[in-house]
Amino acid sequence: MHPSGRADEPTTTDCAGGAVDRPRAYPSHAPPHTPLRPVWCCRACGQPWPCAQARLLLKAEYADDQIGLSLYLCGLLHEAARDLYRLNPDDGPAPADLFRRFVAWGPYRRPAVDPP
Ligand SMILES: [Zn+2]
Repeated sequence: MHPSGRADEPTTTDCAGGAVDRPRAYPSHAPPHTPLRPVWCCRACGQPWPCAQARLLLKAEYADDQIGLSLYLCGLLHEAARDLYRLNPDDGPAPADLFRRFVAWGPYRRPAVDPP
């Protein structure tokens, strides 16, 4: 069923995914570069999240947990897609663009074949 009653759509206060708490603020008194849902802009700099600073901080924070970073980014891709398509069902971002934005910059993935 296609949702047609937008007036009944959930607002920002009842997003199922909750707040995103990474990357942590650095330095600790600075505003954290975390996403403002459901529009997924950075709270600190207003850029589409993850902004450049958020990517740097996440890389540093997950330096010893590359798999954890991949899982975190994939989970947020899923939540962002849900939020953004709900906000803009007729003209939402292309799935490939969302993948590049959230996941493709993350940890290096093993190639399909081993290099010679
Ligand atoms: Zn930012």
